[in-house]
Amino acid sequence: MNHFNLPYCLVIEEGACERLNEILADCIPKIEKKKVLIVTEPVLIEIMQEYLEEMKRDLPVSETYLIEKNSFDQAMELAKHICMEDFEVIIGVGGGKVLDVAKYAGFVGKIPYICVPTTLSNDSLASPVAVLGTVGDERKTLKCKIPAGIVVDVNVIMDAPTEQLQSGIGDTISKYTALYDWKLNAVHHKDKVDDFAYLLSDMALTSLCYHEEKSLKSKEFIKVLTKSLVLGGLSMEIAGNSRPSSGSEHLFCHSLEENYKEIKISHGMAVALGSLVSCRLQGRDAKWLESILHAYGMDMNPMKWGITKEIFVDAWMKAADTRKDRYTILNQVALTEELLRDIYVQLSERFPVSYS
Ligand SMILES: [Zn+2]
Repeated sequence: MNHFNLPYCLVIEEGACERLNEILADCIPKIEKKKVLIVTEPVLIEIMQEYLEEMKRDLPVSETYLIEKNSFDQAMELAKHICMEDFEVIIGVGGGKVLDVAKYAGFVGKIPYICVPTTLSNDSLASPVAVLGTVGDERKTLKCKIPAGIVVDVNVIMDAPTEQLQSGIGDTISKYTALYDWKLNAVHHKDKVDDFAYLLSDMALTSLCYHEEKSLKSKEFIKVLTKSLVLGGLSMEIAGNSRPSSGSEHLFCHSLEENYKEIKISHGMAVALGSLVSCRLQGRDAKWLESILHAYGMDMNPMKWGITKEIFVDAWMKAADTRKDRYTILNQVALTEELLRDIYVQLSERFPVSYS
């Protein structure tokens, strides 16, 4: 059985940042005697100033470290700083990029990491991996530890851009096809899916999809989305791999990232688009997913991101090669350019916005 860790604390509430010190004291015993490092990014210093100042007042925060870029080198530099200056706790405040750098640096520096997101764009929030830049535009997914604590202030997330929240929805709904591919992989490799991890990932999916609240700027919705993203991260930790959250739809996203760097599409939107296609390849009706995306006002016409028919077809043809060890529906269907072109046209019709 895979050994896993769970966060010591998980707080999702309105005004959590206003009582952050109290929450942190519950999460990390004797934190007031520890050397604490806050990691954030320049753009957030002003927005989060009030909370950062308060943390500094009550906690032995000796430094606020600003992240310039989300790269492996930056994480290593930060880890070195942690080791050289004997920091004992690291708190990441910001979006996915800051949090991934802080998470990995805390892992390398072997100190507890507390995550305080300011947006919800993917399930890396609570996952045991960090995606970091390597050379040029290349990025790598690196294994690390899930956070020791997760503190989500609903009021802070309310100010996050709508597109980022939609991206968080996209990463959640992509579990619909990821879970199907995970089962295919288990059958093919005569392996077993981890039932508990499967359950958590499925709960992440259904609790969001079946929830009545569809307004992105409602506190109720923010709480539901946070829980779904946390459940998604924990399911990966319990499974010991990313299969509960990542299938053929994620391979399409990787293919776009690797072969079409000029296409600027968020991770969550790329995997949501991927899911709409994977669903059809899996022989399932995509109408359910489409209705959810419509309900959240998410336009999935590929041309919205400049994904032409040619790019779409080519990215799918190359998708399986991005992670050759990953068995998905792409190993079972005979992908043809004609089939992919048909799917592209269907998608354009289902999300009829005139981008072309
Ligand atoms: Zn994802």
